[in-house]
Amino acid sequence: MAVPKKKISKSRRDMRRAHHALKAVGHVECPNCGERKRPHHVCNSCGYYDGRETIVHAEQAA
Ligand SMILES: [Zn+2]
Repeated sequence: MAVPKKKISKSRRDMRRAHHALKAVGHVECPNCGERKRPHHVCNSCGYYDGRETIVHAEQAA
């Protein structure tokens, strides 16, 4: 429900925003190269996902 802006005190507004902070993303070690990567994502370092290489290199794609 909409409430007039000036009706909310700075304290009330800031208490509401106390929950707005971003959390750090989780990381796991890549089983192929050991680099830290995000879970369920292709490894940025070696391009592996689920035990196989998933990045198609430019010379192979041509
Ligand atoms: Zn890797």
